[in-house]
Amino acid sequence: MNKILIALTIAGLTISCGKETQEVVTQEVQPAPVVSTPKNIIMIVGDGMGPTYTTAYRYFKDDPSTPRVENTVFDRHLVGMSSTYPDTHHNYVTDSAAAATALSSAIKTYNGAVAVDMDKQNVETVLERAKSLGMKTGVVVTSQINHATPASYLSHNDYRYNYNAIADSYIDNGIQADLYLGGGWKFFIREDRNLVEEFEDNGFNYIDSYQLLDSVSTDKPLLGLFGDKGLPWALDDTNKHRLSAMTKTATKHLENEDGYFLLIEGSQIDWAGHSNDIASAMGEMDDLAKTLEYLETYVKEHPDTLVVITADHSTGGVTLGVDGVFQWDPKVLRTMKQSPNSIANLLEKVDITTEYANSLFNFELTDEEISKLITVKNDTATAIKIAEVTGIEDARSGKEYDPFTVNNELYKAIKEVINARTFTGWTSSGHTAADVPVFAMGNNKALFNGYQDNTDIAKKIFTLLDNK
Ligand code: MG
Ligand code: ZN
Repeated sequence: MNKILIALTIAGLTISCGKETQEVVTQEVQPAPVVSTPKNIIMIVGDGMGPTYTTAYRYFKDDPSTPRVENTVFDRHLVGMSSTYPDTHHNYVTDSAAAATALSSAIKTYNGAVAVDMDKQNVETVLERAKSLGMKTGVVVTSQINHATPASYLSHNDYRYNYNAIADSYIDNGIQADLYLGGGWKFFIREDRNLVEEFEDNGFNYIDSYQLLDSVSTDKPLLGLFGDKGLPWALDDTNKHRLSAMTKTATKHLENEDGYFLLIEGSQIDWAGHSNDIASAMGEMDDLAKTLEYLETYVKEHPDTLVVITADHSTGGVTLGVDGVFQWDPKVLRTMKQSPNSIANLLEKVDITTEYANSLFNFELTDEEISKLITVKNDTATAIKIAEVTGIEDARSGKEYDPFTVNNELYKAIKEVINARTFTGWTSSGHTAADVPVFAMGNNKALFNGYQDNTDIAKKIFTLLDNK
């Protein structure tokens, strides 16, 4: 209503400029224009979700029986783009910690920094500001809850891989959130310290199974851990839409008179990108898309809510179309029911037959593809045996993140089959500097239109919080 009044007033001013406007203006500007500010703010990070991922997801979800390519929830809410570079001492390619600090605290910092600046001094995050204003706060992620992105909203540390210290800080520096959902048993239930019990001592409900998400009572703050570190790949999980399930619980738990700030992260899009695994990437994207579709409805029912979605960077340098061929074909991705990781685990244990391999991939492999898998498996096992006997390590061994094992070589061969089938290319096992898309829904979404830097996103959220 206010907006309409203001628009009318401005129109009136323009038309009657220099005439008898004075009276009209004073009448129509009652009450004074107030920029409305959202009651609830939901920030969503698709970790690693550069623009090629949302494009790939559109074609992955396309219904080939219709003449047009259907829009996705991402297409419906695209508003702008964001640059992602860290502090320029660190060139233009960011890691997730520096990018999350930019998104949480509006500052550029070094790769690895968790809500600390270049001098390793703590910087206030939007989640902390929201809490200090009396709002409820929460985080929902598919990684461990002390991983770089959530940690950069909840904690401060000079190095993202100090996982135990970051987990400890969730209690020791004062509990910052009313709800934590994600993975992390390894870091929260340790021999030296049981942080789950400490959360319970501080009045939290604790759940460790998705089944309890619907039934757990909303009268207490909530900690839910559902995996040792990150959750299983969406493709392999008991609930392939666990991010949307957790998000539904979170919105229900956080609703209150003073509003809430919620961080949601589709954490494992990035992990699929690092491992150049397009099948798992689409599984993670589908979970995030379901989350946005739920929030699309939620925002209609709660128009005082702002939802902002972006990525912290792009991962893997993924391309849709390779080697001069004008084609990208996601057909086999649409039928896959488990991740390449899980297929490798199962094929490692048995003699590979066409029938069994087809049942695992859930599409028909060619003879060439089958023999490639068998050869890789046998050759790797032989090379490892030779190395054991001779004591001379195979030239392919010695890389910590790319171990020379039957399992890992099979995993790589499976991904090669899928990348070749789909014409998917990868140029890196790391991040790239491409700008990332920005999406927004609900109250004040237009604030995020156009080009912006990742620090601008946090600046805008701080401004909205300060106007509350
Ligand atoms: Mg992340
Ligand atoms: Zn990454």
